Amino acid sequence: MKIKVLKFGGSSLADAEQMKKVAAIVKNDRACRYVIPSAPGKRFSGDDKVTDLLYRCYELSCEEMDITGVFEVIKNRYRDIIKGLGMDFSLEDEFKKIEISILNHAGRDYVASRGEYLNGMILAHYLGYKFIDAAKGIYFFDNGTFDAERTNTRLSELLNKYDHAVIPGFYGSMPNGTIKTFSRGGSDITGAIVARAVGADIYENWTDVSGFLMADPRIVDNPKPIDTITYRELRELAYMGATVLHDESIFPVRHARIPINIRNTNDPAAKGTMIVSRVGEEKDDAVITGIAGKKGISIISIEKDMMNAELGFGRRVLQAIEDHGISFEHLPSGVDTLSVVLHTKALEGKRESVLAAIRKAVNPDVLNIEDGYALIAVVGRRMVAAKGTAQRIFRSVADADINIKMIDQGSSEMDIIIGVRECDYENAINAIYREFDR
Ligand code: ASP
Repeated sequence: MKIKVLKFGGSSLADAEQMKKVAAIVKNDRACRYVIPSAPGKRFSGDDKVTDLLYRCYELSCEEMDITGVFEVIKNRYRDIIKGLGMDFSLEDEFKKIEISILNHAGRDYVASRGEYLNGMILAHYLGYKFIDAAKGIYFFDNGTFDAERTNTRLSELLNKYDHAVIPGFYGSMPNGTIKTFSRGGSDITGAIVARAVGADIYENWTDVSGFLMADPRIVDNPKPIDTITYRELRELAYMGATVLHDESIFPVRHARIPINIRNTNDPAAKGTMIVSRVGEEKDDAVITGIAGKKGISIISIEKDMMNAELGFGRRVLQAIEDHGISFEHLPSGVDTLSVVLHTKALEGKRESVLAAIRKAVNPDVLNIEDGYALIAVVGRRMVAAKGTAQRIFRSVADADINIKMIDQGSSEMDIIIGVRECDYENAINAIYREFDR
């Protein structure tokens, strides 16, 4: 029998009505064996996500302030769901345990993880599936990175015992047993980990949009949906800001070649976007799969005569940056110039010290940091074979009277990344989209 792993995002589980839709989806297909829930998300704009409320409780507890009010809001979210589903089920004992743990200064990750934990308990009970605490099968190393192999072995053993199970998303455990979460949106990663562990035929990721669109609909009017995208393209787009799926959730399923299908809980008939390792013969001749980008970028510009002849120049610059715990995004260079493109946020509180370290390391003629840039990635697997794509991107941006500050092309020739001023960001994306939407 086919095995499907389904992950439902916070908006799909925000209240009892949404939960009922989820149950209908799961119960409609016998292949739906393992389900990964997020914590309840926003029910309407301006509403709070339970995870955010939990983080607030944690912060209040750190300041020895009263958590009762915020914790009551959290409890009521779950109580309303249970009541709306007409269940004979109570989480009151769990609430007590969690509240005591928070008051006893439980760790930040433990507190945040309870959103998924509690929602998982409700969903498991409602579906009649086994509840499996993710802490018992998803592991991290001491340094906080994910322990993929131990997890895979243990989780396969554990899940193979059950035909159906609910495993809460977002967290696992450290070698000493404490709870550790992935970064925000990390339930997507849990879903992919579970899909690998059970050898799923497909990983369905249910959210509130019918898949990926070619561009951000807040920027481009009615962008076309993407039917099929490769893992590699998706990784580029997700990393650059396309927010439908966590960018790290591709790794567990990619090697096992398990396709991911992005689906819409509010429109289950829509086929959504398929994410696959390879696309066969294609009739579609569109060069571009998608466009994504992000603001908040700074560029450190370095100039020095005869830089090209100075052995180790680039390494010393990067070392100075690494020594500040900062990673860089891109590294465009000329003969006597080098730019380091990075997140403005990463420089917070370290600006002067980074500049001083670079000055000391390479004694440049010119050194400065410019803020207020945005990066735009134009991604497409068919770009490798298509001639003139770069020219079309640059011409469309130039025709929109926008200056390009930086250009980079990945070695896979699957993406072209440009840097523009933040104020030109939206116009540049529209110009590129229009050029390729023909
Ligand atoms: N609840 C967590 C968050 O809000 C994880 C997730 O939803 O995937 O980030």
